Amino acid sequence: MPELPEVETTRRGIEPALLGRRIEAVTVRNPAMRWPVPDAVQRAVGHTVTACRRRSKYILLELGESAVGGLLIHLGMSGSLRVCDPGDPPRKHDHIDIVTTDGSCVRFNDPRRFGVFSWWEAPAAAHPLLRDLGPEPLTDEFSGDYLWYRSRGRRGAVKNFIMDGKVVVGVGNIYASESLFMAGIHPARAAGRIARVRYAALHGAIRDVLQRAIRSGGTTLRDYSGAQGKPGYFAQELLVYERAGQPCFRCATPIRRAVIGQRSSYYCPACQR
Ligand SMILES: [Zn+2]
Repeated sequence: MPELPEVETTRRGIEPALLGRRIEAVTVRNPAMRWPVPDAVQRAVGHTVTACRRRSKYILLELGESAVGGLLIHLGMSGSLRVCDPGDPPRKHDHIDIVTTDGSCVRFNDPRRFGVFSWWEAPAAAHPLLRDLGPEPLTDEFSGDYLWYRSRGRRGAVKNFIMDGKVVVGVGNIYASESLFMAGIHPARAAGRIARVRYAALHGAIRDVLQRAIRSGGTTLRDYSGAQGKPGYFAQELLVYERAGQPCFRCATPIRRAVIGQRSSYYCPACQR
């Protein structure tokens, strides 16, 4: 499933094909996505793309000088966007094209159709899918003190806490396991029982793991590939994720797998407390 680094990699991949260009057509071959693609997406036609932003795992295309609205895209479980020639014959699961007047095309492919292709109106932050989201993990709004403050009184596992999009967006299952290992925190520890100084370490680890994953083009596991159809290379850098039974890189104790919040979690029983 595409997580924040994959979405950011995708955003960077499609931006040159869209920014400053005028939209000639939005061609919807199959509107049956997670929610039906609304007719409102046709309002994009004739407008220039003034920004290609990301908020959490949503890609927001801002249109027109006054940026009154634009297209909202989420890759869901298996979606991808790729830049192609508008004349290229569509492949299986190529559901939507964004075509510009100067002949570029961004094509949305999604075999499982859990993706979202919709319209937002300004202010984007008020959109029902965006308004309850926590801060972005790579901005100054997000800090160790913020995590510490938000976690007080919370008895649930710290791993579930950092994966809660109302607390902070974009810390998916892979990156939660990795950052907790880097910070030496056991994933099942109660969020409210972790000291301030350890949250400072966890904040640094989350930033570090996400930045490295973005630099590598994301983590390719199974059915994701980037905007140019290339895989991400972060899988080669994973320290604990999907390494159950293999020796910890720090102390050689076998890595364990446990299910926390219905998700597989990987940790070192010696290094993480
Ligand atoms: Zn260890």
